[in-house]
Amino acid sequence: MTSNEEWAERDAAVVWHGFTQMGSYTENAPIVVDHADGHEIFDSEGNRYLDAISSLWVNTFGHHVPELDDAIRAQLERGAHTTMLGNGNRVVVELSEALARVVPVDDPHFLYASDGSSAVEQAHKIAFQYWVNRGVRGRNTFLGFGGAYHGDTIGALSLGDGGFGTKLFDPLRFPVLRAPGFDDPGCFERAATMVAEHATELAALIVEPLVQGAAGMLLAPPEGIAMLAAACREHDVLLIHDEVATGFGRTGTLFASEQCARPDILCLGKGITGGYLPMSATVASGRVFDAFTGPDLGERTLYHGHSYSGNALAAAVALRHLELIESRDVLANVRERSAELGGLLDDRIRPRRSVADIRLCGLMGGVELAPRQDGLRWGRRVCAASVERGVLLRPLGDIVVLMPPLDVTSAELHQIVRVLDDALEEVAGP
Ligand SMILES: *Cc1c(COP(=O)(O)O)cnc(C)c1O
Repeated sequence: MTSNEEWAERDAAVVWHGFTQMGSYTENAPIVVDHADGHEIFDSEGNRYLDAISSLWVNTFGHHVPELDDAIRAQLERGAHTTMLGNGNRVVVELSEALARVVPVDDPHFLYASDGSSAVEQAHKIAFQYWVNRGVRGRNTFLGFGGAYHGDTIGALSLGDGGFGTKLFDPLRFPVLRAPGFDDPGCFERAATMVAEHATELAALIVEPLVQGAAGMLLAPPEGIAMLAAACREHDVLLIHDEVATGFGRTGTLFASEQCARPDILCLGKGITGGYLPMSATVASGRVFDAFTGPDLGERTLYHGHSYSGNALAAAVALRHLELIESRDVLANVRERSAELGGLLDDRIRPRRSVADIRLCGLMGGVELAPRQDGLRWGRRVCAASVERGVLLRPLGDIVVLMPPLDVTSAELHQIVRVLDDALEEVAGP
């Protein structure tokens, strides 16, 4: 049996990990997963870790879920992938019909891709071409929020607001109009005003409804998002909701938009396959879609599409996953466990001097630490101390992210909060 440490050495020799300084990768005690089962992941020494970040927010029902495994096996018998460019596939039709019944978009049409970033790129190009196809000139600009994160590709990076060491890419970013972040309570009114002022230049406004995830779980009141939607409607600007993080039950409803406003274009990713396979989708309303119909090979066509768009294995598992969300009544669990987690955090974590704020929406949570000076790396060290105690956490700067699976149990929430409490005590003192 090879030790975890040896696997980490082999890993570091050939694998380049995202958002990770490879020079110190092995010093930060990485877990090289041997297998994952239920809510836990296991290393090759048999150590087990509760996956409290749902494998970077994509996982919903845990790992090695029998029904989801079966869906992939069954689809394998019918072929793993066929192209969506100019042809179709039955399982993709079935998935789209099932999604069409539940997405908060009028008369929805689905353009698939493989990552959240690509779903955002597609939304960006669709919004731009929508105005071109309608013969409206000058609608080249986008409005985004401070702190927004929409992905890593250049278009998504430009719509987003930097951070995470991406400032050096600024020369590659195209300019967008920027409202303040969700940490400024006046940001929605300001954004609504900007929509009015810049309506003739704006193709679309893009926002993460209810929760700016990567910004550190910053919360928006539903009325704030509704105000944006009203401004966009009034001034005929398209509204794009990036629900890559909030979609598929995270906030207690299937989509966060259900709690605030219906967008013209919706971006889905992360939880769409329950964390099994890379898939994302850009959902366009009938009004947007109709602007693209015209003569064969004509210029109203959307000339865009990825090789693995609408992958059949991913579609099969996404379809089964959507059925499971309904049949297991997981949204009720998200709401109940969210209330419970909020109570536990208020009791055990909020009173600590080392904690500045706690934010929670459904099962998207952030514990913001208050280090006494720069350079203490509390976020990193608190998460490392939690991993040592068997709970896998990963911070965003000095914010400890809590993203348990949607069917997390009460006992698991108690374990997560107990471990976080002990880790805070060790790193930050009482
Ligand atoms: C993660 C994320 C993305 C990017 O998705 P990838 O699959 O990592 O490309 C985009 N928007 C939001 C809100 C996200 O949380």
